[in-house]
Amino acid sequence: MGEVDAIGIASPGPLDPYTGTILDTPNIPEWENFPLGPKLSERFGVPVYLDNDANMAGLAEWQYGAGKGHNDLVYLTISTGIGGGVISSGHLLQGFRGMGGELGHMTIDPNGPLCGCGQHGHAESFSSGPAIARYVCEQIEAGQPSTLSAQTQLSAAQVADAAFQDDALAISAFERAGYYLGIAVANYLAIFDPSILIFGGGVSQSGELLFRPFRESLQKHVFHHHYLDDLIVTKAALGDDAGLLGALALARLALSESKV
Ligand SMILES: [Zn+2]
Repeated sequence: MGEVDAIGIASPGPLDPYTGTILDTPNIPEWENFPLGPKLSERFGVPVYLDNDANMAGLAEWQYGAGKGHNDLVYLTISTGIGGGVISSGHLLQGFRGMGGELGHMTIDPNGPLCGCGQHGHAESFSSGPAIARYVCEQIEAGQPSTLSAQTQLSAAQVADAAFQDDALAISAFERAGYYLGIAVANYLAIFDPSILIFGGGVSQSGELLFRPFRESLQKHVFHHHYLDDLIVTKAALGDDAGLLGALALARLALSESKV
């Protein structure tokens, strides 16, 4: 067995990657302001590097996956929420407090639906899986006909199945999600000017249901068409292990920088 030089961690956030502290994470309430990095470093006697799981997935796609060779990359994972990871000029964007790249919580419409974070109208509140399912439920309650009206618990995957069977409400739910996603990404292009957009997460698997309205909306809302020249839009290559591979990349990059 080889020597362990460092530990890399991809954790749910919000967290402080510079001190290794988990600030608060809804699924593990005991970890409020928990110094995970220092505790593990003390136990194992090696440096510990951590960052949030979406940043780590973005870093992994850059180092080992679909974004290899690109210096400016925006990664989005669309599933139960929307997470983002940004590589800017060949560096992982972390920010002053380590809280940069929270792309799902960009405000698209302050009067929009409630987001998981408690604010209104964030990208996540329009285009995540639960947001798509919630929209369908609301429309059914408002009297819209749908083959899904008999369902009590709806998932975005069920909405996608119904859309593939030509259910008009299900199709419109993805059109709406794609429309708002296009607005969000137009904003990301204006800030980060990436050469590649990489989409991960289960909702991204719904293909053209989401991406046709997304492209139309992006073209409509982008500040300048030059952002779209040679812009690559692609699926993530690394699947469920992306976060782990990102943690590996984070530790490797940090170690190589510390040796310079
Ligand atoms: Zn939010």
